[in-house]
Amino acid sequence: MTATLIDGKAVAAGLRREIAARVAGLSFRPGLRVVRVGDDPASGVYVRNKDKAAQEVGFDSATIHLPAGTEQAELLALVARLNADPAVDGILVQLPLPPQIRADVVISAVAPEKDVDGFHPLNAGRLASGQPGLVPCTPKGVMHLLRAAGASLPGARALVVGRSGIVGRPMAQLLLGADCTVTIAHSRTRDLAAECRRAEILVAAVGRPEMVQGDWVAEGATVIDVGINRLPDGRLVGDVAFAGAVERAEAITPVPGGVGPMTIACLLENTLEAALIRRNI
Ligand code: NDP
Repeated sequence: MTATLIDGKAVAAGLRREIAARVAGLSFRPGLRVVRVGDDPASGVYVRNKDKAAQEVGFDSATIHLPAGTEQAELLALVARLNADPAVDGILVQLPLPPQIRADVVISAVAPEKDVDGFHPLNAGRLASGQPGLVPCTPKGVMHLLRAAGASLPGARALVVGRSGIVGRPMAQLLLGADCTVTIAHSRTRDLAAECRRAEILVAAVGRPEMVQGDWVAEGATVIDVGINRLPDGRLVGDVAFAGAVERAEAITPVPGGVGPMTIACLLENTLEAALIRRNI
């Protein structure tokens, strides 16, 4: 079997067009503020891409760039101003933050109804208890990809490798919400290969290049590779050894061009959702 490629660029472009069309029909522009602290070059690229994508769908979007030496209290004061600003629907504080600022404190300070990253403990708790709320963008994007691939989820054995708060845990909750039978693997899992071989849906979110070997993938599985790893030779690879996995899976995401493009599209979707909910639309 050679797997069908799940084209994240195409699915993301479709979602962005749909959001732009919905925004064009509104009598207001959803407002997004992206906060960047310091000069981390990778963060600079992410923030510019988010701002540009938000402008393209018609949002009122702006980046607020604070110096690397900003104190936590100053950042919290800015977040409080954005929380109170009626023109702002979504607030995103780009991580990582400089060492003098605690990310968990800042994340908890964002108003939950404007938390378009879905990282606030209230939104995490809502997701864990099956209530509606803002959901982290990357796992939300994975659910779009699974639907686009036509994966049959109810009752499916799903394995999530990784248990971080931004990918693995919310991913597992979303799959559970879609009636999968979910297993979560992590660095202390005893026999990861055996867990992978049982999975009909395999989501890898580890951050280790090609760790999930091709022959760990079950024949006919749907494989979603969240990992983005840069090798010393400059190539980008995922957490799954693609060349072997593509021979066994039924459908698989490439890296790049799979999950990556979905994260920004889902940030836009969350901002639109936040704007509509705040206005009772
Ligand atoms: P974290 O480092 O926060 O979490 C990694 C997880 O993998 C941990 O739960 C860890 O387990 C687990 N893990 C580490 N080593 C092993 C192992 N040998 N076997 C099994 N599990 C292991 O990473 P993130 O969740 O933030 O990101 C994961 C990957 O996804 C990265 O490559 C990142 O770049 C990518 N990513 C991609 C995004 C996109 O837009 N496509 C967005 C966000 C992330 P333990 O908890 O036990 O330590």
